[in-house]
Amino acid sequence: MFIVDQHTFVVHPGEVVAVTILKRSGPFLAAVSELSGAAWTRKPEPNGPLAAGSFIAPHQAGTRVSMAVVVPESRGPFDSDDSYEIKIQGATGEATSSLVPSPLRAQTRTFAFEVQDPDPGLTWCPKHKIVVRGRCPKC
Ligand SMILES: [Zn+2]
Repeated sequence: MFIVDQHTFVVHPGEVVAVTILKRSGPFLAAVSELSGAAWTRKPEPNGPLAAGSFIAPHQAGTRVSMAVVVPESRGPFDSDDSYEIKIQGATGEATSSLVPSPLRAQTRTFAFEVQDPDPGLTWCPKHKIVVRGRCPKC
């Protein structure tokens, strides 16, 4: 999996993508949508503070897959440090994580995955966290 930005990723056909959501404190109230463009192998459902699941990227290059994490409005007093950490990890490449603070208003975070055939000329520089063709120009 290559990270385009915090909410957009490139995955390879058939790549297994793991999605993990961790609630720092307080009850887990976030909900994960169905996938558009693919189906959950295991849909992330909360088990205590953690919801873990995964899906397999479609085999057709050019397919787009998306999902949404809906975090509801906080009710009553809450810890201002409380948040959801959404972590996405492909079979290869770095994991990404984004933090959604426990909100005063409901928030939806959408994540999109584009399926692309592996390009053997492209590699990942773990030091600079960028996709490069051939040698990394920053190394
Ligand atoms: Zn580099």
